[in-house]
Amino acid sequence: MKRCTLSPWLHQLHHDRPAVQLAASHDTDIAIIGAGIAGISTAYFLLTQTRKKVTLFEATRIAHGATGHNAGQVAPYFEKPFSEIVEEYGITLAGQAQKDVLRARELLKTIHRAARIKTPLVIFPGYAGCSSIEQVLVHLHNKELRKKAGIVMDKIYISRDKNILDRIPAKYKPLYKTVPKSRILKLLNTRHHHYIAALQTTKGTLNSAKFCEETALFLQKKYPSRFTIFEHTPIKKVQLEKNRAVLFARHPITCERVILCTNGFEHVKLVNKTGKNIDKAFHANVYGIVSHMAGYLDRGHEKPNAISYFDDKEADPNAAYFYLTRRKYEYEKGKHYDLVCVGGPEYRLREKARYHREKAFHPAAERTIKNFLKSYALKPDKPDYKFFWHGLMGYTKNRLRIVGEDPCNNRLLYNLGCNGVGILTSIHGAKRVTDIILGKKLEPSIFDPQNLACPTKK
Ligand SMILES: Cc1cc2nc3c(=O)[nH]c(=O)nc-3n(C[C@H](O)[C@H](O)[C@H](O)COP(=O)(O)OP(=O)(O)OC[C@H]3O[C@@H](n4cnc5c(N)ncnc54)[C@H](O)[C@@H]3O)c2cc1C
Repeated sequence: MKRCTLSPWLHQLHHDRPAVQLAASHDTDIAIIGAGIAGISTAYFLLTQTRKKVTLFEATRIAHGATGHNAGQVAPYFEKPFSEIVEEYGITLAGQAQKDVLRARELLKTIHRAARIKTPLVIFPGYAGCSSIEQVLVHLHNKELRKKAGIVMDKIYISRDKNILDRIPAKYKPLYKTVPKSRILKLLNTRHHHYIAALQTTKGTLNSAKFCEETALFLQKKYPSRFTIFEHTPIKKVQLEKNRAVLFARHPITCERVILCTNGFEHVKLVNKTGKNIDKAFHANVYGIVSHMAGYLDRGHEKPNAISYFDDKEADPNAAYFYLTRRKYEYEKGKHYDLVCVGGPEYRLREKARYHREKAFHPAAERTIKNFLKSYALKPDKPDYKFFWHGLMGYTKNRLRIVGEDPCNNRLLYNLGCNGVGILTSIHGAKRVTDIILGKKLEPSIFDPQNLACPTKK
């Protein structure tokens, strides 16, 4: 039987909320394309910090992209290890980016409060489990570098085992604490004995789709004359002209500036009438990865958690990476459970292949997730799965979000490049793009679009 897909995040949206489509030509100051968390938070900062008229165009419905199909972990790290970012961009830019992402968590809290969002944003200590000494050394090195940049954001617990401790250089001693193995397994909520260390970072959980829906409704109410949303309105082409940009949809749209918040460069043709061809420079730099997740309801009422499990790739090249969250969840009105979500299995989308959100859940992914839970988790024995879903992530080649003005034409801006971890970077991108539009002088950043063309920038 083919498994239909539905995420717990879309399940909680208002399914009878009316959608307005573009029905005539339209003129605005700023056009945002894409109503995921990047587009919605960009609209939030533009409306609250400028006097501009803002219009949001969404191909389907608000938050039905990655924002409605993710794991909903509010995590302050990047898709790739901090040490790699330092190697590529130097300690100053890498450190600044880390501070920006931590600040984005505060911005998220601010939006949550100011827009009186009801969907819970819960912040708590989350964990990542390491199963090899190499992984532990990477985390220790990251921690050392972050400390150098003036950032302390995690704790490292290592199993009190002589064989492991003997292999850790003495310089790292102040950076970790030793604990009995049983404590590591308890922190990671697993019975698998191959975990030798646990990294603790402040994480959180959020239904980012519901957050977007509520924020959009708040903005529509607060700025009725300056904010418009058109759903079911895909933009096919963006043409950058000397004095304006023209967007091609069912009806023509004109604007001063346009911001792509489309996750990747999904189906938008970019034409620059005043300079170099933009299509070639960027489109080839984003590829798609489809990731699979499942969720079950539990009456356990335990503390929330967010845990990543890294298996030893050296010992087994097919070793997997899984992530698990537990949070309070209202399944039906007034019926509260713990929702446990697990993700991991992913595959790369073939070049030029189209991703279909409605596509059935991959049976192999379902088996992999179920086997993981059976063999790893402390409980339960027979989860009652309510949700299976997959989501598309636009991966940039340098695995960092692209935020800022297009190097060929500053009428076009980006806040995209979803990658695997993107809630907080989307919010940072939203604030930075707004600051650019406000004309603020900003320091260079690892997220600058030109870094994709020439990534080494120490
Ligand atoms: C399975 C999975 C798990 C994840 N887990 C986490 C996690 O735990 N923590 C975390 O921080 N991040 C996670 N992410 C990543 C995170 O969800 C994304 O980085 C974030 O949601 C990206 O938001 P976005 O607004 O950039 O993109 P999206 O949410 O994809 O929004 C882009 C929108 O643009 C629209 N669009 C595209 N083209 C057009 C067009 N031509 N015209 C009009 N509209 C268009 C799309 O329909 C879509 O609604 C995960 C992603 C996936 C898929």
